[in-house]
Amino acid sequence: MKNCIFCKIISGEIPSLKIYEDDFVYVFADISPNNLGHSLVIPKKHHKNLYDIPDKTLSHIMPVVKKLSIAIKKATKADGINIIMNNEPCAGQVVFHSHIHIIPRLEDDGYKHWKSPDFNEVDIEKSVENIKEVLLNDTDTNLRAV
Ligand code: 5GP
Ligand code: ZN
Repeated sequence: MKNCIFCKIISGEIPSLKIYEDDFVYVFADISPNNLGHSLVIPKKHHKNLYDIPDKTLSHIMPVVKKLSIAIKKATKADGINIIMNNEPCAGQVVFHSHIHIIPRLEDDGYKHWKSPDFNEVDIEKSVENIKEVLLNDTDTNLRAV
């Protein structure tokens, strides 16, 4: 895809610190890491975000994410790992070639988790009903609400 930074990284037009690649994925160091070892796993084909990635590609990507997480944790002597995927601008996506962040975490790295607002039980239950309703009426998914 023209004008996509990550497509240019895959083709070698833009340099990157490559960690791993196979027929479907390319993995490289984030240019602005939250912690050392922060890596990005991207499908080689241009897909904008999670919704656009074919299931077959995703099922190849996730074991790669798992294996790299284990290797990165070991290499960086991290205490834990965050797997993050930002989808759409309001969720923090700034590069519109889908990517999964692997971020090593250290006990004392100072990053805080999000605070949860005080939603009441009725609203939480209603939100679950709404999701199940969408699933029931969605002919594109084979997921059936229980
Ligand atoms: P997003 O916010 O879209 O989930 O994350 C995009 C990530 O891509 C950011 O963490 C950013 O540092 C990284 N990034 C943006 N441009 C480049 C680049 O040219 N090279 C590399 N290696 N990483 C990049
Ligand atoms: Zn792209």
